[in-house]
Amino acid sequence: MNDGPVAGVTTPAFVRFQGVSVRYGEGPESVLALQSADLSFAAGDFVCIVGPSGCGKTTMMQTLAGFLTPTSGTVSVDGRAVDGPGPDRGVVFQQPALFPWMTVRANAGFGPRMRGENPRMAAERVERWLRTTGLWDFRDRYPYELSGGMQQRLAIARALCNEPRLLLMDEPFGALDALTRERMQEELHAVWRRTGMTVVFITHSVEEAVYLGTEVVVMSPRPGRIVERIATPFARGAAEENIRTVKSRPDFIALRERVLSLIWGMEDPEA
Ligand code: ADP
Ligand code: MG
Repeated sequence: MNDGPVAGVTTPAFVRFQGVSVRYGEGPESVLALQSADLSFAAGDFVCIVGPSGCGKTTMMQTLAGFLTPTSGTVSVDGRAVDGPGPDRGVVFQQPALFPWMTVRANAGFGPRMRGENPRMAAERVERWLRTTGLWDFRDRYPYELSGGMQQRLAIARALCNEPRLLLMDEPFGALDALTRERMQEELHAVWRRTGMTVVFITHSVEEAVYLGTEVVVMSPRPGRIVERIATPFARGAAEENIRTVKSRPDFIALRERVLSLIWGMEDPEA
């Protein structure tokens, strides 16, 4: 959107959705899940997408991940049209999709191993991310031996081991208890600040979105549309402040309520 010519130079957005629509099925039974989505943002942004269930959040992310081809429109990353999944985009789902027969360490190192990376360098990266996510002491365990929160941390560590330029997360903390969830929000925030990667994060929690995002994108259902983009200052501004301190600030609460009021009443009775 803010990517027009500047002083004779065109700076392409890092991620760009142009008129992206997705229709599931055909004929009268078909569902227009996403209607003419236009959204672009820069490298290093942390974009949070919120909206009632069924508004097309997952659909939109699947087109960016390359798992789903839009019915019309284009999605591009760094000036190149998305035409399938790729290691430049890491994906974390709501339910961790781990390999149950592999240890924690083998799960984390799956991507680098598949790409035939230098094993020593890959092992160093696996260790770093397992330590960051508090899983190093569990490196020889199997997923079934981990709690739900630990499994989700492993899914995140595995995505980060690929060092994706773009991390796509679809309600990744939805199944976590409140305390673990806030810890994960802080950890993810720290990783984002340290690496400068670009994150697209879908959540049901407006509070989570306002805390984590540099921008909150609000969608409405049937058909799914982007209705508002709100710049949020807390991700970059209050980096060193405690998470509870940030979330208790009057300016944080005011912005959270503003986003909530946009979603209020949008809930689709048919969804
Ligand atoms: P959200 O992630 O915001 O909850 P989704 O993108 O999952 O929304 O779904 C948007 C709409 O598309 C919903 O009405 C949903 O029922 C429909 N939908 C999603 N996936 C499919 C599918 N594979 N086939 C048919 N309809 C689908
Ligand atoms: Mg969804």
